[in-house]
Amino acid sequence: MTNFPTVRMRRTRQNEKLRGLVRETHLEVSQLIYPLFIAEGLDRPREVPSMPGIMQWPLEHLGREAERIASLGIPAVLLFGIPNEKDEVGSQAYHPHGIIQEAIRRLKAETPDLLVITDVCLCEYTSHGHCGVIFQGGVENDESLKLLAQMSLSHVEAGADIVAPSDMMDGRVGAIRRQRARGAARNRPGYRGGGRYCDG
Ligand SMILES: [Zn+2]
Repeated sequence: MTNFPTVRMRRTRQNEKLRGLVRETHLEVSQLIYPLFIAEGLDRPREVPSMPGIMQWPLEHLGREAERIASLGIPAVLLFGIPNEKDEVGSQAYHPHGIIQEAIRRLKAETPDLLVITDVCLCEYTSHGHCGVIFQGGVENDESLKLLAQMSLSHVEAGADIVAPSDMMDGRVGAIRRQRARGAARNRPGYRGGGRYCDG
């Protein structure tokens, strides 16, 4: 605001009618994306302690929750997976029957109108909790790219509409696009994750 104090935006914010006239940003339900955390090995939903009101869902309960989301007019869900097994290279992240791949298939079968966006990152799937593979004590960027690309492709092959990489590897969007260009997923859009709760 370089021309303060001549320009005083508070003048147009005095009441609801004035604000309605000058408002430039409108938030609609049709713009919302609902986060869904899907955990393997749960028998009932479990609240995420750091995010009150947000649950981790077992696969079996996913359909009902997805229907509730769709009935509110929310067009899209963003899936995060919590696997049972973790290893050095995050194998469950790109396993054809991993928790997220199964969740995508289920959602696409039961609520086909809901757009399915998937988080792409390895940290929830690696035993060390890093977003990539470790080599000589550090995260090996380019080896991690291959796995992130493989993870993206497996999501799209399971039916995901959009993949949303949230890792911090250099060149991951290009790697994911190149991998998908080889597969059947040529025209699926990508989306770069913005908000981050934490990065392991
Ligand atoms: Zn991560």
